[in-house]
Amino acid sequence: MKNKKTALVCGAGGFIGSHLVTRLKNEGYFVRGADLKAPEFSLSTADEFHIGDLRDPVFCQKVLTPPLDEVYQLAADMGGAGFVFTGENDADIMHNSALINLNILGEIKHREGIRIFYSSSACIYPEYNQMDPLNPKTEESTAYPAEPDSEYGWEKLFSERAYMAFSRNYGITVKIARFHNIFGPEGTWRDGREKAPAAMCRKIAEAKENSSIEIWGDGQQTRSFLYIDDCLNAVRMLMDSDFSGPVNIGSEEMVSIDELAKMVMDIAAKPLTIHHISGPLGVRGRTSYNGLIREQLNWEPSHSLRQGMSKTYTWIREQVKLAQHQYRLS
Ligand code: NAD
Repeated sequence: MKNKKTALVCGAGGFIGSHLVTRLKNEGYFVRGADLKAPEFSLSTADEFHIGDLRDPVFCQKVLTPPLDEVYQLAADMGGAGFVFTGENDADIMHNSALINLNILGEIKHREGIRIFYSSSACIYPEYNQMDPLNPKTEESTAYPAEPDSEYGWEKLFSERAYMAFSRNYGITVKIARFHNIFGPEGTWRDGREKAPAAMCRKIAEAKENSSIEIWGDGQQTRSFLYIDDCLNAVRMLMDSDFSGPVNIGSEEMVSIDELAKMVMDIAAKPLTIHHISGPLGVRGRTSYNGLIREQLNWEPSHSLRQGMSKTYTWIREQVKLAQHQYRLS
């Protein structure tokens, strides 16, 4: 009988990590999870779950104890625009995430045969290529000369380079993906770290009939959003392939933030007024370029934005109802 593969998921208490644990379990892996916290919205399906701090080399050593075939490194100090673009969290973002990555690399550098996946971000792409909301450029080859618009992006770029350097010098197999706005049920939806799709669903679910919602900026800024299941398919295809990346994992279905708001209002059957206010924004336009992943992995997303947003809205509406019920009881 074939031995079960063993995988470690770092960041297994987070949004993508907790979904990835379930995906790997469904594929028959033995899964070890590590995170500062357990998943917020459901019980982890991991075989082992270690609560601890990956900035601590001793904890890293413990969770990286052999046997391990694969490591998925998703742990990072991160959040949406309200966390990344205010400037208030820059030092923590750089210090915490870089330490996690350096600890992990230091621990696995002599492990022959181990494969490690690193989750980088579309935030590494230069700001100067993302000024035109209708024509942003994110081809993998345009990452340099580097000019990310946030320290979050700079840390991701530094860590990409660290993973590639360790691969060259120590021979470990590294896979790097640049995620572009991944969303879906069981993602953070309030308290400041939520991203645009979740924030939009929450605002619309909370709004009274015929009222208004607030949107940061003029609403003409563009983005694309990838549904979680499609993201996990791409991650697993990349891990099983001979291709290393860095490669974009995202959607090419670009929308303005106003269009996203109108789509969610339509899903919710709640026509509301949009009130634009100033707030942290990030680049003017961004969408994924999928030429490389199509060519290397023959991967395409299978959910449209509307399909993904419908599932996400349904889940967030339930969370909002639950929170309102708990508030009434308190
Ligand atoms: P998330 O915040 O839900 O998950 C990250 C997890 O890392 C959290 O559970 C957090 O507790 C954990 N973590 C942070 N510091 C830690 C530490 N010191 N020790 C142990 N655990 C620690 O984020 P996510 O959306 O699931 O993103 C996963 C990865 O993908 C991150 O690296 C993120 O930067 C990257 N990414 C995500 C997106 C997206 O749209 N979600 C886009 C681009 C890149």
